[in-house]
Amino acid sequence: MEKNSLFYIILAILVVQYLVHQYLEYLNAKRFTSTLPPELVDVFDEEEYRKSQQYKQTNYKFGLISDGFSLIVTICFLWFGGFEWVDQLTRSITESTIPMALIFFGIIMLGSAVLGLPFSYYRTFVIEEQYGFNKTTKSTFLSDKIKGGILTIILGGGILTLFILFYQSTGPNFWIYAWAMVAVVILFINLFYSRLIVPLFNKQTPLEDGSLKSSIENYAQKVGFELQNIFVIDGSKRSTKANAYFSGFGKEKRITLFDTLINDLTEDEIVAVLAHEVGHYKRKHIIVNLIVSLLTTGLTLFILSLFINHPEISLAIGVSTPSFHAALVGFALLYSPISEITGLVMNYLSRKFEFQADDFAKTTFAATPLVSSLKKLSKKSLSNLTPHPAYVFVHYSHPPLVERIRNLKA
Ligand SMILES: [Zn+2]
Repeated sequence: MEKNSLFYIILAILVVQYLVHQYLEYLNAKRFTSTLPPELVDVFDEEEYRKSQQYKQTNYKFGLISDGFSLIVTICFLWFGGFEWVDQLTRSITESTIPMALIFFGIIMLGSAVLGLPFSYYRTFVIEEQYGFNKTTKSTFLSDKIKGGILTIILGGGILTLFILFYQSTGPNFWIYAWAMVAVVILFINLFYSRLIVPLFNKQTPLEDGSLKSSIENYAQKVGFELQNIFVIDGSKRSTKANAYFSGFGKEKRITLFDTLINDLTEDEIVAVLAHEVGHYKRKHIIVNLIVSLLTTGLTLFILSLFINHPEISLAIGVSTPSFHAALVGFALLYSPISEITGLVMNYLSRKFEFQADDFAKTTFAATPLVSSLKKLSKKSLSNLTPHPAYVFVHYSHPPLVERIRNLKA
């Protein structure tokens, strides 16, 4: 197999990415035994804290092995001409551009799903089970995988087909059309996520009348937040971990509370969590996030349009006959350092937004119940109370608990 210089650049990117990430994991893991900050001594008792440190340790080792395995498989696949082999196999079935791309990606994704399955199974039924988080049955696990796969085939296949159609009909300007289409898809999913996608995986019921509902409605009215849809989702079907989130906008906007959240928190604490979510909406975080992700998508597609035509990009993954699908894979690998950087920016922005939403909850409702709810939620999920700052900088979309509490108490 012919190997050009881009081929070696891809190998270097993969190895450097692995090393950087594992180094961060290592820095973080070294702090697992550190003593708790004074604000958090009441979160865990000694026994629970030991359990949370073990949970972190287990996940750390698991990540080291699963990431290492996926790195080795990817490198071997590249080195021994795996992409070329899949490309030849695809070409023996059809020579027509769109079906070829669909089959090519179908084989690659099926292969990686099969290889990833044992790891995903182990995480859910061994690690999460061992620490008492797992509520997923084997049949839920299986049906999740199948539904997720079908969704990927429909959405991914549809987008890929349209991409190629745009490329064939508009040439170098295809990125503008592709961008417009992606924008429509992102907006559509944002609007109808709760209505169309969530029901495939979970049951949602409107929050029943009662004192919780009236507390929520009183709060919403006080801050001038029009809220018709408050739903409860059966998160307990999969995990004991609790959550709440906001989705959609305009008439479609709704708040979704996990049933686990309702069971674990007091009424005031739930309203505080909700006030935080309303803060995201009122401070325009939802819109800003949407715009930022549209802009980064546009940039990515524009850069893609500059390179998609170069046979070198297909060759970079060892595929000798240049094609749209091979160039797409080569581009994705070469572009990954840039997506890491945009990821850093997004996380930085997100952490800022979390503080703003906390401040909103503090001024429009109260800080104390939010502090106690955050503590409860951290305890339930055995979250890391002493993460390494470098790890936070790269991976955290939310500030560490102690920083949020300091900010809320300030
Ligand atoms: Zn938030």
